Amino acid sequence: MAQILVVEDEAAIRRGLVEVLEAKGHRVQAAVTGPEGLHLALAPSRPDLVLLDVMLPEMSGFDVLRAIRAKAPALPVIIVTAKGQEVDKVMGFELGVDDYVTKPFSVLELLGRVGAVLRRASGLPGDDPSGVLTIGMAIVDFDRLILSRDGVARELATKGFDLLRCLLRHKGKVVSRDAIMDEVWGQDSMLNTRTIDNYIVKLRQLIEPDPNNPCHLHTVHGAGYRLEL
Ligand code: CA
Repeated sequence: MAQILVVEDEAAIRRGLVEVLEAKGHRVQAAVTGPEGLHLALAPSRPDLVLLDVMLPEMSGFDVLRAIRAKAPALPVIIVTAKGQEVDKVMGFELGVDDYVTKPFSVLELLGRVGAVLRRASGLPGDDPSGVLTIGMAIVDFDRLILSRDGVARELATKGFDLLRCLLRHKGKVVSRDAIMDEVWGQDSMLNTRTIDNYIVKLRQLIEPDPNNPCHLHTVHGAGYRLEL
């Protein structure tokens, strides 16, 4: 059971969403306009998940999302779009959208996506990864510190493995540069955040099918980085 905020201006869809989610035992709040949704999303009794329509009065869903991300980088958000509506999914993922639902949607699909996002969000930081893991295009042996791609061992500094471990511990969640700095380099480090960015570029070259369009190691603007396996 979770607290879910529904931001949707079409009354019939809003009511439908509220009904379906309440029937599942969730506590549901509803908002009609962008500003109202933003206010509830950032209220002290912060929801566990926001279902956010794109076409909203006064403020678009993406503007609401951008404002949410500035204050609550890790708050899970599912974007609700209308069929045939142009949605810039790349922009959405950069803004940290957790998933999309397209109207009209089936109750099963909606509940499936809501459940998956809530499960991912409630995952506590995992254990330190060990052994051999496949991460994107790479195979990483965390015990022997060997990363290979296409069967060839590639060069990666020890800190690169540490950074990968850090992102894996928080898999599916945004990790801020400050948190990365603390966990990988230690609090006293005089490290420039550029160094982190350089390691991210390097990791993308190693794990991404297309480093310029990352599908595993995402940048969440103004918030940090998120690794998806
Ligand atoms: Ca709408």
